[in-house]
Amino acid sequence: MNVLVINCGSSSLKYQVLDMKTESLMAKGLVERIGLDGSIITHEKAGAEEKFKLETPMANHTDAIGHVLEAITDKDHGVITSMDEIGAVGHRVVHAGEKYASSVLITPDVINALEECVDLAPLHNPPNLSGIDACKALMPNTPMVGVFDTAFHQTMPPESYIYAIPYEYYEKYGIRRYGFHGTSHKYVAERGAEILGQSIDKLKLITCHLGNGASVTAIKYGKSIDTSMGFTPLEGLVMGTRSGDIDPAIVTFMREKGNLKPGEANDILNKKSGVLGISGVSSDFRDLEKAAEEGNERAILALKVFAHKVRFYIGAYIAEMNGVDAIIFTAGVGENDMGMRDIICSNLHNLGIKLDLVKNRVRGKETVLSTDDSKVKILLVPTNEELMIARDTYKIVTKK
Ligand code: ADP
Repeated sequence: MNVLVINCGSSSLKYQVLDMKTESLMAKGLVERIGLDGSIITHEKAGAEEKFKLETPMANHTDAIGHVLEAITDKDHGVITSMDEIGAVGHRVVHAGEKYASSVLITPDVINALEECVDLAPLHNPPNLSGIDACKALMPNTPMVGVFDTAFHQTMPPESYIYAIPYEYYEKYGIRRYGFHGTSHKYVAERGAEILGQSIDKLKLITCHLGNGASVTAIKYGKSIDTSMGFTPLEGLVMGTRSGDIDPAIVTFMREKGNLKPGEANDILNKKSGVLGISGVSSDFRDLEKAAEEGNERAILALKVFAHKVRFYIGAYIAEMNGVDAIIFTAGVGENDMGMRDIICSNLHNLGIKLDLVKNRVRGKETVLSTDDSKVKILLVPTNEELMIARDTYKIVTKK
């Protein structure tokens, strides 16, 4: 069976077509500037030398998905001859609140439940739902599955997810920690266990998803027991442009001192903070490292603050799990930035964590990075959220 994976953002859409017999990628692509001037689709057939690009007006997600379906069935750069060859569609959905602890077949009831979660993820759930609507309109008979970023973390115990604010805020408004990047944490944990040749049910793992958005998860015997993102993806680590953990009193103080308008503090903490805010240089670690090499003090500081926070969570999760068998790095920074991995893992040998500096000289490839005598294994596992979504989708529609 072929599965179409759809990941809708507010003005962009990523897609992949996978053949689930072999779990191989057939085609992938990206639609950008949906609803804006200059809408464009970039489509790539697996193995093809050239990408197909088409700039054409796309007023909404239905238009965008229409172009995706045209691209994948095109006689030149397509990979199937008709839409009947797509057995199911897997949709990435960011927030499922407390409703779903795993992926589900999308039914009208599921759509209602996800609409109820819009308040919790106002930027993410509406475009995710538009993608589902658009697919339903264009391929009404194809089963669809929702795969949620929050689902994997639903196993967290209450002591991990309850904030110490009056309990009625949890009961009335659902204010609690949810956690995100669940699909990625789950994928790299499962893959990590396979690489180690051990059952995930017997392992204590710490997965570090370090990208533009970043989070760390404690996975005990296959289940997420704590994660650094919380009610929203703003909590936890220092990120590209997000502050991560701060004293909540800062928000009120900043509003008063800076005469901020409603929404402005939120904008500062989400878009102007993180390593960009500290350095004033960039949110991209490649730019920061270049600036640091040239002696830019604030770029050096931003990198140190970032690493400090990752180490802080690793330490906390070792305490929570009473040990760790493996630490797994993934996402843009985790997969590519050997210097950052080095700083994060340095001076942890008392905890049995030893990075092999030669093995660490690698990018984007599944590798064991620890020394042979390191008690704790350190792994690099490139994430593959789309494959995880396709697997769940295939499993649910074929009931395997
Ligand atoms: P997201 O999916 O959250 O947008 P990614 O996982 O794609 O983020 O990570 C993007 C980040 O990865 C970039 O902002 C950049 O900082 C970092 N990155 C990518 N390649 C490298 C590299 N070679 N060295 C250091 N950092 C890198």
